[in-house]
Amino acid sequence: MYTLGVDIGSTTSKCVIMNDGSDIVATSLEIGGMGTSGPEDSVREVLDSAGLNRDDIARTIATGYGRMKYEDADGEVSELTCHALGASHIFQGLRTVIDIGGQDAKIISLSSDGRMTNFVMNDKCAAGTGRFLDVMANILRIDVNDMGKLAEQAGQPASISSTCTVFAESEVISQLANGVKLPELVAGICDSVASRVSALARRAGVREKVCMSGGVAHNDAVRKALEKKLEVSIETSPLSQHFGAAGAAIYAYRQELRNK
Ligand code: ADP
Repeated sequence: MYTLGVDIGSTTSKCVIMNDGSDIVATSLEIGGMGTSGPEDSVREVLDSAGLNRDDIARTIATGYGRMKYEDADGEVSELTCHALGASHIFQGLRTVIDIGGQDAKIISLSSDGRMTNFVMNDKCAAGTGRFLDVMANILRIDVNDMGKLAEQAGQPASISSTCTVFAESEVISQLANGVKLPELVAGICDSVASRVSALARRAGVREKVCMSGGVAHNDAVRKALEKKLEVSIETSPLSQHFGAAGAAIYAYRQELRNK
């Protein structure tokens, strides 16, 4: 039985098709979240890539920031539940998910059987989210995808003292003008995100095994800085950005079984 999870975020739309709630058949990712053609494009792409059409899908569940506005799903489920489900499907014995997306960061605590028991969230401030990285990449005229690699070339990360994104932007511009090298600046920016997220994580309590989900999981400099600050090792997967959509596809499968 094929099920589809559609994760409509603030910046991207992700889809996962699963077979019997277990095997990942196809994934897709489109830039553009709620209010754009991202969700529809992402659904079309995942169906094409699986060689399926809409009638082959037994159930579709939407999740993410834009889930309420998406009308082509059979139901919607919170991204907290979906990230917990998707991440624990990939990592056995997972107890903490650090999800850093395009506009918020969440720390999700799981029980030993993979159910969400608690969460803390920052959705009030861009610092400590992918938005902070996007703003900084834009002023440095670099691709956000290259930030992790650039940071690896740094000696001592530059110190970014402003906790507000707007002030940090001016701080980065003046450090650049004062001759601070790009890798050091990028490493400082990644470190700043990790500082904000680690403070959030300490509030929730961090138990191993820990993994990252969301787009920022692709940034190895943020992951390593988080590992250092929290003194734990943190897993990632090429599918980290798809954990929400995978969780939605698993949820759809379980719901379909219950309805039979
Ligand atoms: P949302 O669900 O809110 O749309 P995502 O979980 O898709 O967010 O993450 C989007 C964020 O991830 C972007 O703001 C961007 O900063 C970051 N991101 C995406 N891909 C990469 C990458 N390859 N390297 C580093 N950061 C990335």
